[in-house]
Amino acid sequence: MNLDGQHFNNTYSRLPDYFYTRLDPTPLENPKLVAFSPSAGQLLDLEDTRETREKLTQIGSGNGAWPGSEPLAMVYSGHQFGVYNPQLGDGRGLLLGELVNTRGEKWDLHLKGAGQTPYSRFGDGRAVLRSCIREYLASEALHHLGIATTRALCVVTSDTPVYRETTEAGSTLLRLAKSHIRFGHFEYFFYNKRYEALKALADYTIEHHFHHLKGVAGSDYQRFYAEVVHRTATLIARWQAAGFAHGVMNTDNMSIIGDTFDYGPYGFMDDFNWQYICNHSDHSGRYAFSQQPDIGYWNCGRLGQALVPLFDDVALIQKALDQYPQIYTTTYTRLLLDKLGLLVEQEKDAELVRDLLQLLHDSRCDYTLFFRTLSNFPAKQPGKQLAPFVGHPSLAPWLDRYRERLKTNPLDEQSRQKRMKQVNPKYILRNYLAQQAIEKAEQGDYQEIENLMSVLTSPCDEHPDFEHFAEKPPEWGKKLEISCSS
Ligand code: AMP
Ligand code: MG
Repeated sequence: MNLDGQHFNNTYSRLPDYFYTRLDPTPLENPKLVAFSPSAGQLLDLEDTRETREKLTQIGSGNGAWPGSEPLAMVYSGHQFGVYNPQLGDGRGLLLGELVNTRGEKWDLHLKGAGQTPYSRFGDGRAVLRSCIREYLASEALHHLGIATTRALCVVTSDTPVYRETTEAGSTLLRLAKSHIRFGHFEYFFYNKRYEALKALADYTIEHHFHHLKGVAGSDYQRFYAEVVHRTATLIARWQAAGFAHGVMNTDNMSIIGDTFDYGPYGFMDDFNWQYICNHSDHSGRYAFSQQPDIGYWNCGRLGQALVPLFDDVALIQKALDQYPQIYTTTYTRLLLDKLGLLVEQEKDAELVRDLLQLLHDSRCDYTLFFRTLSNFPAKQPGKQLAPFVGHPSLAPWLDRYRERLKTNPLDEQSRQKRMKQVNPKYILRNYLAQQAIEKAEQGDYQEIENLMSVLTSPCDEHPDFEHFAEKPPEWGKKLEISCSS
């Protein structure tokens, strides 16, 4: 299908006008398509043709409109680093519209870097090439690791200069998500005491994104909030199991449908370290890797507070929130047991996992390589050492415990190894790999992005041509500081 045949059903733009400001993207000069994800394109029934790519270049640069779109900037607020900021909103992105595919699924199209809006505050409304590539690669990488996330359709760059620490190329990312509603949307109406609007937003969100909860016994709002808590706890358990740090878990970056949302200075951990901080502006470590589960809980609390006017009995909010730790722990434990190839949980498994993580932390072992190598663990050959463990003698006693534990695992060695390789990726988006692809792209060479995408879209498979992407980072690659200006 080409770009003219799509069907839009722009429900958000039918909401009252105080939910948004309508405006068109500000065009970029001399646009070029940097990357297009055929897998994201399929969500919109788009084929990877020259015509598609040409049209996306026009749309992505604000030089052409997608027929049926109705661009608007959403208003929201949120807690940033624990402090309430009353006025945020889409300062550099526009919701272009909601496209319905042939399977009846509705996808928001959001253009990030589209120019100034009434919510730009002091910003220029633009995004630079490196930040667009980082979001493009990460959202596609997380999706293919089975982690809920917004998707990325394409990246466009241009000759329009954008001023950061240096002059960079104004670029855009065309993002897809089932919803762009954030916790901060609810906070905006709550703190402005606009309870009718708050109710309208909750009703809209339930109607379009939590429809399955309607009409069941009890209050829709209670079930809605409980499900957001559930999805958030589950999402963060998945981040922790994958070794992913988001970096800026402000409530305006929390998706109401539980997607990983708004990629900034995120990081996939190389060496395991609970205190890993990927955001170099995060001096207190508020969003350090180990803090993410607690911050998810705190953020759900902020959402719960914003929903208070919708509840007759606020104890129901607390009751739903109280479920978070249990949901998180159960999910995280299950994911870790899967990584260890352990089929049925036993009494001492939580201890086995806890001790392993402490050892990985103490020895600063490469998290991804450890689990991938463990997937080949020859339990029936006692004494045989595996290459990456050699440098970490402290792991030897733990490996003996693991070998002992495998004796009561109802899986033969081959099946266990196969299952483990399906959940322990060989390839992750290490910071230095993204950086190398960005530096080449800034010179006009986009091939490295394609190369990376070919491993990130099936990260648990072998890719003999790109074996080097699975290696540990070089020393310089561990020390990269990712700029927050984006
Ligand atoms: P972020 O830290 O990227 O989640 O952004 C926080 C807020 O700042 C959001 O309201 C963004 O839309 C806005 N923002 C970020 N960068 C810019 C920019 N270059 N121009 C205008 N607004 C921006
Ligand atoms: Mg944001």
